[in-house]
Amino acid sequence: MSGVVFLGTGGGRMVVLNQLRRSGGFWLKLDGVNILQDPGPGCLVMVHQQELKPSSLDAIVLSHRHIDHSNDINVMVEAMTHGGFQKRGRLVAPSDCINLDPVVLQYVRPFTEITEIKEGMKIEIGSVKIGFPLRNMHPVETYGAIYEFSSGRLGYIPDTEYFPALSEAYKGVDYLIINVVRMKSDKNIRHLNMNEAAELIDAIRPGKAILTHFGLQVLKASPRLQARIISEKTGVEVIDAHDGLVVDFDEKESLEKWL
Ligand SMILES: [Zn+2]
Repeated sequence: MSGVVFLGTGGGRMVVLNQLRRSGGFWLKLDGVNILQDPGPGCLVMVHQQELKPSSLDAIVLSHRHIDHSNDINVMVEAMTHGGFQKRGRLVAPSDCINLDPVVLQYVRPFTEITEIKEGMKIEIGSVKIGFPLRNMHPVETYGAIYEFSSGRLGYIPDTEYFPALSEAYKGVDYLIINVVRMKSDKNIRHLNMNEAAELIDAIRPGKAILTHFGLQVLKASPRLQARIISEKTGVEVIDAHDGLVVDFDEKESLEKWL
């Protein structure tokens, strides 16, 4: 049984600080392994609203240290480890989340096993393999991931400036979650815009692409309409995520069992 629940689909300062969309990242259940990716502000609240159990988490993965991706990391490690009383699970994060102006508090660190992400690294959590194919181009150390599980491969491209190596690294994944913060680029902000996301989807050609992490420009331009435009242009199935969206990767089985 495999799928994803979106605990937030907002990105960028205006959307996150005003909670125009929630910002809790997403929860993966892949062959029974529970992994939380990018617990931004409000993650703990959304986890409970979705009736997920934080103590069932096997790992938490941070793509990078920006607050819209990492704000709830400490409380989620506590929740994963029964308040720190039971050492369990893993935290997988870039080095600068732990070493330089760290977002992971010192007292929380003994509660779980911590692994620093390196470009090209592969790890296993239960039967799920996670690869970190390349470092993104973003102001802080940032890594996307490819999750391999029994029904396919899921790629996640978090915040980054566009660069061509992305399409090679994620080529042919079955599912692609892609953060699209902007409609127009701004070199100082280093995020993908909608045209660049479309170009990547066209080159990567996933079975299904899911747009998320929308900034204000994207919300104003209707994520639903943008997804439809990219679908028509590329022939790839593209959907826009919304808060609480569940996508079933097995399709045949009901996700109700694990929600
Ligand atoms: Zn960022």
